[in-house]
Amino acid sequence: MAEQLGFFPRVSESDPRPPETITWNPWCGCTKVSEGCRHCYMYRRFESVGRDPAAVSRTQSFGLPVKRLRTGEYKGMYKVPCGSRIFTCFSSDFFHRDADVWRGEAWDMMLERQDCTFFMITKRPERILEHLPADGTDRCSHITIAVTCEDQRAADKRLPIYLELPLLHRSVMVEPMLSPVDLRPYLRDGLIESVSAGGESGPMARTCDFSWVQDLQSQCVEYGVSFSYHQTGARLIRNGREYNIPRRYQHIQAKKAHLDYDPINRVLPDDVPVG
Ligand code: SF4
Repeated sequence: MAEQLGFFPRVSESDPRPPETITWNPWCGCTKVSEGCRHCYMYRRFESVGRDPAAVSRTQSFGLPVKRLRTGEYKGMYKVPCGSRIFTCFSSDFFHRDADVWRGEAWDMMLERQDCTFFMITKRPERILEHLPADGTDRCSHITIAVTCEDQRAADKRLPIYLELPLLHRSVMVEPMLSPVDLRPYLRDGLIESVSAGGESGPMARTCDFSWVQDLQSQCVEYGVSFSYHQTGARLIRNGREYNIPRRYQHIQAKKAHLDYDPINRVLPDDVPVG
């Protein structure tokens, strides 16, 4: 999926270490904004250890992208190797209001690490324009800000705003997919590079119908946009029958459906049964 989402790691001759794929959470905690948040995994995780998931706080790993090694063979080099893929802010929303005070510093770190790629997801595209780096997005070619659209309502609310933003990469996550979603009005102008779909995980998961995913994939094929079926979710309906899929199989079962589509290599879908 990462390759389809604007990740093209660069390799530095001065850093012999292999690139890594890591998650960087500069802050954590968030407040719910829509149906897609109902069973937020961060809420589940925080509540299970008695933490308030709605309290947004800066984490100890805030400075991770620019942290330097103090000892060892690579002393003085960044802790995160050159060319790494950094999934950013997956325990919050990067554009949450309560993080306004820290965001400028986070942008500075991302702009310093032009040798890495960053990928983040937001449900708050209406806050992006006012909270981009101070000098604009010219030096942000290594950063992808994706938007989640879990249903048609979210798509129609968020995508018109998202498409107007001065971003260099655009990616849409239809996850957890809660209904059929028609993205055609938003795919037409070629601004969206990739679409990803997936069902909901966890004990309270809502169902995802495989036909919704197939339809979304066919929209992407129609408009030549990359598509990835990321994971099935815990409850998949196919041909009217419901399948309960354990977490460890959700990704692999989605891949077995052969719905991933790459318009550059023209990988066309098969219709391999799931489950
Ligand atoms: S925006 Fe994301 S992190 Fe925040 S509550 Fe919703 S699902 Fe959770």
